[in-house]
Amino acid sequence: MLLSRVTLLATIPLEFNQPFQSKGMYFTYWLKCMRTTQNLLCYSINRNVSTSMMNLFRHKNAKRIEGLDKNLWVEFTKLAAAPGIVNLGQGFPDMLPPPYITEALANAAAGENFMLNQYTRGFGHPPLVKALAELYGHICGRSIDRNKEILVTVGAYGSLSHSIQGLVDEGDEVIIIEPFFDCYVPMVKMAGGIPVFISLKPVKEKVEQGMSNSGDWSLDEEELSSKFNSRTKAIIINTPNNPLGKIFKMEELKMIADLCIKHDVLCISDEVYEWLVYSGHKHIKIATLPRMWERTITIGSAGKTFSVTGWKLGWSIGPAHLIKHLQTVQQNTIYTCSTPIQEAVAGGIQKEYGRLTDEDCYFLSLPRELEVKRNRMAQILLAVGMKPVIPEGGYFMIVDVSTLNVDLPKMEGNEPYDNLFVKWMIKNKRLAAIPVSSFFSDQAKSQFEKYIRICFIKQDSTLNSAESILRNWK
Ligand code: PMP
Ligand code: GLN
Repeated sequence: MLLSRVTLLATIPLEFNQPFQSKGMYFTYWLKCMRTTQNLLCYSINRNVSTSMMNLFRHKNAKRIEGLDKNLWVEFTKLAAAPGIVNLGQGFPDMLPPPYITEALANAAAGENFMLNQYTRGFGHPPLVKALAELYGHICGRSIDRNKEILVTVGAYGSLSHSIQGLVDEGDEVIIIEPFFDCYVPMVKMAGGIPVFISLKPVKEKVEQGMSNSGDWSLDEEELSSKFNSRTKAIIINTPNNPLGKIFKMEELKMIADLCIKHDVLCISDEVYEWLVYSGHKHIKIATLPRMWERTITIGSAGKTFSVTGWKLGWSIGPAHLIKHLQTVQQNTIYTCSTPIQEAVAGGIQKEYGRLTDEDCYFLSLPRELEVKRNRMAQILLAVGMKPVIPEGGYFMIVDVSTLNVDLPKMEGNEPYDNLFVKWMIKNKRLAAIPVSSFFSDQAKSQFEKYIRICFIKQDSTLNSAESILRNWK
């Protein structure tokens, strides 16, 4: 195109029919044309170069997502989806949810009330916020304003993201306890915040003996206290924890709460596994500790509560002065969540709230069922010489695989051992899990790369297949 433009311009004088009175006139005219051609040529070249430079510039990612393009779930979920893989990786049940909840969704979508297929209130469908206010009001021992103190979001992810976007500013520090659910870090970074890490540390002897449970992992008080300063905006806690299964005890929560109060720091408490608590343990909401309600956002998930992870519905509960900032983010981003799903979850919450102490309450029957699966999985792992860390809650178990002595060649890019191990295991053993180092900061990764995470909310037939792979390992 550039060439044809030049050719065309260069030929103008020859094609120009007007007679010239002298050679000089022709020469002057020719010079003029050449200059124009040159100018146009330069303009054209410059324009092409600068267009492509501008494209490079314009098409470049925004700074806030720089370096965040890799994602654990994208990578490992794809690997686990290959045919014939026994999938103990990504956390989802391969069992049916309680039938009443799927029936409620079908009824909402196919019923007479046409409004149940249309937009609903942006901050939460009225029947759902009503049911959540009743349930959590009861649990927290306070009255919860359904319109101002609750926000319904797209999954707990939505609540985490809105909390961080709505409250964390450029340069704010956010304390994150390791191991952490991996999205906390990119979310803080996208808001311009600075993650500050502190590791839960295991009791070494117990881990070495292969007898440890998630309660043996704890925070060092002095170290935790050293992480708080005038730049600290928030701390993110996750109890029961993913991937460890640790349930924070009252004294641990008190220690965190005291520091939050002392330094006027907010607490984002991710409690999506709040109902998955095993015998002898109790889930405590940090928001219920003295002077913590006013600084805490508690996050829940319908996906985890009712075993419907694909429904992607979550909620944030907290004081109106904090929730209003999350509402601002929501009204300017996704605006509202799916109406029929909210209607069905409202029915589910209402039903379970009405039978909280009955044996049949799903919030009690699910952990009962899962405890059997947890124990079974631990026995299998121990029997093949692996060292599981028995979780107090949640549906994951981390396990030290170093006793298997799988010798893997180091690949380029310094990928942690557990990443390579899981990829090798998927390919060679047809068993999928999740590498645990992904739940640690870059500084701490290398200390935990001998662990993988196993999800045990699976049907017996899946667990049987996993057992047979593990027992026939050699
Ligand atoms: N927090 C934790 C600790 C999780 O494990 C998950 C994954 N379910 C989430 C938040 C996100 O939950 P949701 O699927 O409801 O977005
Ligand atoms: N929370 C689930 C897990 O930990 C799934 C997370 C995801 O797929 N992004 O496995």
